[in-house]
Amino acid sequence: MKILKIDHLGIAVSSIDEKKNFWTDALGLNLEGTETVEEQKVTTAFLPVGESEVELLESTSKDGPIAKYIEKRGEGIQHVAFRVENIEQALSELKEKGIALIDQTPRKGAGGAKIAFLHPKATSGVLVELCER
Ligand code: ZN
Repeated sequence: MKILKIDHLGIAVSSIDEKKNFWTDALGLNLEGTETVEEQKVTTAFLPVGESEVELLESTSKDGPIAKYIEKRGEGIQHVAFRVENIEQALSELKEKGIALIDQTPRKGAGGAKIAFLHPKATSGVLVELCER
């Protein structure tokens, strides 16, 4: 398995519209538009930071994973995403190593990426996303 870089930090916010100003105005990052991924009940906004990005995540529904996260822990960093060269290979390698996975096979993420989440019980409580683009 080859990890290429930290692809993005996923940050849960109650509203992209209301919370984006810190990232755009105060930090001067560029918001490249938003995208809704219906299967995950989430709207995402990507803001490039050098080689990586900040991903703001807003729930599209009260029972979505981001809504539940904010209810439990408040807004904040929800996941760390590593870009891998080959996501299928990475998942099968992790499975062989006995790492608990949320996604056994990749699913579709924002921007046409293939993504998969590892289980936080395997990662000291950090939700880790693998992504391939
Ligand atoms: Zn992500």
